[in-house]
Amino acid sequence: MNRRRRIYEGKAKILYEGPEPGTLIQHFKDDATAFNNKKHEIVDGKGVLNNRISEFVFNNLNAIGIPTHFIRRMNMREQLIREVEIIPLEVVVRNVAAGSIAKRLGLEEGTQLPRSIIEFYYKNDELDDPIVAEEHVTAFGWATPQELDDIMALAIRVNDFLSGLFLGVGIRLVDFKIECGRLYEGDIMRIVVADEISPDSCRLWDINTNDKMDKDRFRRDMGGMLEAYQEVAKRLGILNENDRPMGTGPTLVQ
Ligand code: UDP
Repeated sequence: MNRRRRIYEGKAKILYEGPEPGTLIQHFKDDATAFNNKKHEIVDGKGVLNNRISEFVFNNLNAIGIPTHFIRRMNMREQLIREVEIIPLEVVVRNVAAGSIAKRLGLEEGTQLPRSIIEFYYKNDELDDPIVAEEHVTAFGWATPQELDDIMALAIRVNDFLSGLFLGVGIRLVDFKIECGRLYEGDIMRIVVADEISPDSCRLWDINTNDKMDKDRFRRDMGGMLEAYQEVAKRLGILNENDRPMGTGPTLVQ
């Protein structure tokens, strides 16, 4: 079915060559993975939901002037994106203690942090994505000091936007991960938000019950992962739309 050139296959997504130079197609798979792929299952429909949720988030980020790689959704599982040079960092922003920071620093999960905290993890599966300091990032040349400033400014803006967005639909944004890339436009290079933002990459807790509505349901064998993702989509008002695909043919990218 796919005669397009496959550029890269990750754990949850595939990147194909796009219809125009400088574009790619990002395909969302149904694979759920955790602990660096040691736990792996197919969750029917997860890719479709993440495609829609990430589309919604990135469209809104673009609309408020936060630059991203996102152009538009093409169909149920795919979106057209700008090709960027991915910076090999997972940029995590935390508002509430959970997951690895709770373990590392002995904090009780659910404790509000004194302020939002940004962490960097070096993207390297063989090393299990180790946490690194700004010193490592600049010394090893993964990003320049100026780029790191831009990344942190973007991360804070995304956190402020997402916190408000989710609070408005009764969800607490505990933490999330973004990836950033270099977008080259002629002589100019800009740092933009890339990859995806979905319940796979965020911790989302119901504001009243603290119910988990994210990938921790899978990581911690709680069940109900798909239902939780559906609920996130429903609350954001993006489920009951007409799902007719928009077609996958080449389109002129402005
Ligand atoms: N995260 C992610 N991909 C990763 C690691 C973490 O999207 O490879 C997200 C995770 O979903 C959470 C945040 O980053 O929203 C912080 O994750 P943490 O460091 O607590 O690690 P975890 O407990 O997921 O191992």
